[in-house]
Amino acid sequence: MLFRNLKIIEPILKAVKSEGYTEPTPIQSKAIPSLLEGRDLLGCAQTGTGKTAAFAIPILQDLSEEHRNIKGKRQIKALILAPTRELAIQIGDSFKAYGKYLNLKTLVVYGGVSQHPQTRSLTSGVDILVATPGRLLDLVNQKYIRLNQVTHFVLDEADMMLDMGMLPDVKRIIKLIPEIRQTMFFSATMPDEIAKLSSSILKNPVTVSITPVSSAVEIIEQSVYQVDKGNKINLLIHLLKNKAIVSALVFSRTKHGADKIVKALEKAGLQAQAIHGNKSQNARQLALSNFKERKTRILVATDIAARGIDIEELSHVFNFDLPEVPETYVHRIGRTGRAGLGGIAIAFCDQEEKLLLRDIQKLTSKSIEIVGDHPFPWNEKLQFSTSKPVTPRARSTKKTSYSKSNAEKKEKSYWKSR
Ligand code: AMP
Repeated sequence: MLFRNLKIIEPILKAVKSEGYTEPTPIQSKAIPSLLEGRDLLGCAQTGTGKTAAFAIPILQDLSEEHRNIKGKRQIKALILAPTRELAIQIGDSFKAYGKYLNLKTLVVYGGVSQHPQTRSLTSGVDILVATPGRLLDLVNQKYIRLNQVTHFVLDEADMMLDMGMLPDVKRIIKLIPEIRQTMFFSATMPDEIAKLSSSILKNPVTVSITPVSSAVEIIEQSVYQVDKGNKINLLIHLLKNKAIVSALVFSRTKHGADKIVKALEKAGLQAQAIHGNKSQNARQLALSNFKERKTRILVATDIAARGIDIEELSHVFNFDLPEVPETYVHRIGRTGRAGLGGIAIAFCDQEEKLLLRDIQKLTSKSIEIVGDHPFPWNEKLQFSTSKPVTPRARSTKKTSYSKSNAEKKEKSYWKSR
């Protein structure tokens, strides 16, 4: 299959070619023809599948055709909602790249930065607006933005919006856009609330489901190191001293944890930066661009800050902590192995995380290779056991008899000493 077979107009074909894409990804070849026919779309797909181009190309094509007949100031015709600033910026960059030979204007608005440059651009007219929900509503309330001309609406990463408590804002925004429109709805997972929202806003949609979340990771080389909690940082330092690791994204469950990891790495002579919600937008953007440009080799991130960010040719993903929800593991390791490239994912599993590992293996239908031979193996005396199995979610709020273990004491004293 070639892009040309998808009835894409020449200026977009040229732009796609200059991005180095040779053929459409499965989501692109499935979604683009239906979207060009004006159908609504329900896409079950995660980032890394090429879904941004799958919705951006048909939108650009429609608007460029419409644009020829429009005189006067540009009006917002396409609205794309994304949960995080990083994702919004990335989507905006994609629209600009695929639309570089078209006369359309894309603007990205998000919070945490001054609104003036955004309002200045809005005043001069915009065709495509990519926004995070909070700042968008803010600018609507201040009357800088009117959404009554929107003909194309994309809700991206809907399940993440649910997790981040953004659904009330999203519902408010939907009330502001015309009912007659084309809607594209993307979510990696379909919890009940998301399924309900999708059926309330989509009209007779085509459904495109790209690889159940678990199989997208086939090309990634995965392994797990069994390591006591208190030794995770030592193991990380040990592994990252290997210069063959070109770029590493390290996932921490908490913001505080991410900062602690960065401090410890720096103390060990390994330059690293953190990206999480407590950092200012500018600090996050700077950390991200340093990492993308290979100025920093190690980026330590929380899920919210890193999910969906696209880093070309990221070689390694480390799960410093195993996530409580197994799908999150797949999202994390999907930061590597982008667009068909391979990658390496290394997870650390302490004795309290055994059940989380079991759930991950169940989801991915894969038994992940356990690396036994490393300098910080489990201290078997610390074997953790519970009389009855508990689910990972329940476990997070449940106190176990393990709470005052040697491992934790060791970890506390380790951090104290930093
Ligand atoms: P996305 O899922 O939209 O975040 O895209 C993931 C990555 O795949 C991005 O780096 C895109 O530039 C890249 N990509 C998108 N479409 C293609 C394609 N047809 N061929 C190669 N790479 C692509």
